[in-house]
Amino acid sequence: MLPENWPSNWNSAVIPYTFNFYSPSSKRLISLVKKGLSYIEERSCLTFEEYDPRELAELKNFTYIYFSYSGVLEDCCLPFFKKRYGRRLVLITPLCTLPAEVAHATMHAFGLHHQNHQPFQENKMKALLFHNDCQKIEQKLDIFESRMKNMYDVK
Ligand SMILES: [Zn+2]
Repeated sequence: MLPENWPSNWNSAVIPYTFNFYSPSSKRLISLVKKGLSYIEERSCLTFEEYDPRELAELKNFTYIYFSYSGVLEDCCLPFFKKRYGRRLVLITPLCTLPAEVAHATMHAFGLHHQNHQPFQENKMKALLFHNDCQKIEQKLDIFESRMKNMYDVK
């Protein structure tokens, strides 16, 4: 079962995203995020599609992930969005720079939650990451089953 706030424009398993190009260290932000998103793509049937922010401003009821960078030493393991539709902020900080950590922060933007110091629930992660069929699904599921359970367990 997908999270209850899963937006309908994500049903194709293609997740739109963009960057805050005005954030400090935007080059670093882009590089860290792209590694984190590849990490998810290699281990799921989801893919990510980058959008131009000007294009997104004109779309109505369109949900996308908005990556921004903060140099403040704060936790990125938090759901930063409130509204069901529209922009979902993921804050990348110096405390979450590894691909698995960026992936973890992105899982929160998917609407998944976990208790403090606990991993995401495996069945919920799996339902989301493998909601759609894709090429190499067997291989990807193998990675999920063998190593991936811990992959999003940051802290
Ligand atoms: Zn978390």
